[in-house]
Amino acid sequence: MKFVSTRGQTKPHLFSEAVKIGLAPDKGLFVPESMPDLSQEIPTWEGLSYPELCYEFFKHFATDIPADELKSLVEKAYSRFDHKEHAPLVKLSDKLYVQELFHGPTLAFKDFALQLLGCLYERQVAMSGESINVLGATSGDTGAAAISGLLGKKGVNIFILYPDGRVSPLQERQMTCLEEENVFPLCIKGSFDDAQAALKDVFGDKEFSQEVHLSAVNSINLARILAQCVYYIYAYLKLPADRRERATFVVPTGNFGNVLAGWMASRMGMIVDGFRVATNQNDILHRFFDAGDYSLGEVLPSHAPSMDIQVASNFERFLYFSLGGNAEMTREIMESFKKDGSFQVGGMAITEFMTSTRMDDEEIAKTISEVYREYGYTADPHTACGFKDLDKLETAVVLSTAHPAKFPDVVANCTGVEPTHPSLEALKSKEIRKFSVDPDEASIKAFIRSKQ
Ligand SMILES: *Cc1c(COP(=O)(O)O)cnc(C)c1O
Repeated sequence: MKFVSTRGQTKPHLFSEAVKIGLAPDKGLFVPESMPDLSQEIPTWEGLSYPELCYEFFKHFATDIPADELKSLVEKAYSRFDHKEHAPLVKLSDKLYVQELFHGPTLAFKDFALQLLGCLYERQVAMSGESINVLGATSGDTGAAAISGLLGKKGVNIFILYPDGRVSPLQERQMTCLEEENVFPLCIKGSFDDAQAALKDVFGDKEFSQEVHLSAVNSINLARILAQCVYYIYAYLKLPADRRERATFVVPTGNFGNVLAGWMASRMGMIVDGFRVATNQNDILHRFFDAGDYSLGEVLPSHAPSMDIQVASNFERFLYFSLGGNAEMTREIMESFKKDGSFQVGGMAITEFMTSTRMDDEEIAKTISEVYREYGYTADPHTACGFKDLDKLETAVVLSTAHPAKFPDVVANCTGVEPTHPSLEALKSKEIRKFSVDPDEASIKAFIRSKQ
C-alpha cells in the first residue's frame, strides 16, 4: 500500500515515510492510494481485543512494517489505557449508545492516535539512529496528548509551547507534572497566536530544522487518522447485529479528524446509516453541511475549547475523496480558499450521509443537565454537543471525546456533582516542571539547542 497527496504533486510514499514526513511536500495531506475493501473481513473481527483489531486493520496500510513488529508496536501503544475494552460502548437506551474514547492516559480521544504515533516515532528513531526533536504549540488538549505519547521515548525530545496562564490548570498539570527527561513544556508570555507565530518562524529556518531533525506534532498526520478508524469498527462490532447498518455515528468535531476517520472506515466497507458532525458555536462545518458554504468566521471561546477552530485542516481529505480523488480540483479549491477565506460547493453528493448540528454554550450546559437527569450519564462539554436532535436517528452512537473530570467546573454547575478521576487527582500533588521562554524564534532555537 502506498500513500499519495491530496494535491497530486508528491510521489507515492510507503506508510512509514508518509508518517515521518507528516505534511506532503506539495502541502497536501497523505491519503491511501486506493481504499482497501474490508467488507468481507470486518465481520470476522468480532470478538477481537482492541489491540488485535488494530493490528488486523493496520496490516492493510503499514505494509512496510514486519507483522511481528507491528503487532508488538500496537500492543505497546494501547498498554496505558485504564479500561480493558479501551473504547467501551455504553448503552443508554435501545437506540442510543455512547462510545467512551477517554480511557487513555490524558483522558481524551487524541490518545488513540498519539500513543500509536509515539511508538511509530520511536521505531523510526531506532531504525535511522538519528534522534528527533518534536516541536508543537497547544492551547490545551493536543499538547498533553502529544507529550504523553512521546513520554520517555528513546531518542525523542518533545517541546510544547503554550501561553502562560491561558490553558486550564488541569491541562497545564497534564503537561508539566511529568518526571521524564525528554519532555519540555515551554510557557510563553503571550497568546496562543504568539506561540503559533514563533513556532512557524522556527520551522521556517530550514537549516536549523535539519540540524536538529525537527518534527511537527499536528492533526494531519496520516497515522492519526488511520488509528482513529479502528474504534469506529470496534463500536460497530459491539452493536447488536441488527442495529449496525442503521447506526449513525455522532461526532463532536473541530478539526474534522475524528469524523473523517469514521467516514473512511465506511468507505472501506463498514456499512452504517451515516455520520453526524456536531459542532459548538464555531460552526464552519455546520454551515458547510447545512448550506454548502465553507467560509471563515471568528473563533469564539466556548465551553468545548478543543472544538474552537477556524479552519478544519482535515477537511481537505474529505474534499479529495468526495471529488472522486481529483487532486487537481482539490488543489484549486484549497488554493482559492487560502486566498478568499471561503468556497461554495453546489451539488457535491455528500449531504445525505453526512449531516450536522450546532450547539452554543447555553445549550451545552442545558444538555449536560438533561443527559444527567434522563440517563444518569455525565457528559463532558464536547460530548454534550452530540446530544442534539437524536430522535431523528434510528440508532445513534455518540462519541465521547473527553472525560468529564477534565472540565470539572462546567460539569459540576450542570449536574451538581463534581466529576473526578484518580489520575487527575494524583497530578494535583505533583510538582510542576516547566520552562519559561520568550515567544521569539531565537529564544526557542537556543532552548532546543541547549538540550541536544
Ligand atoms: C480534539 C478534540 C475534539 C475535536 O476533534 P477533531 O478531530 O479536531 O474534530 C473534540 N473533543 C475533544 C475533547 C478534543 O480533544
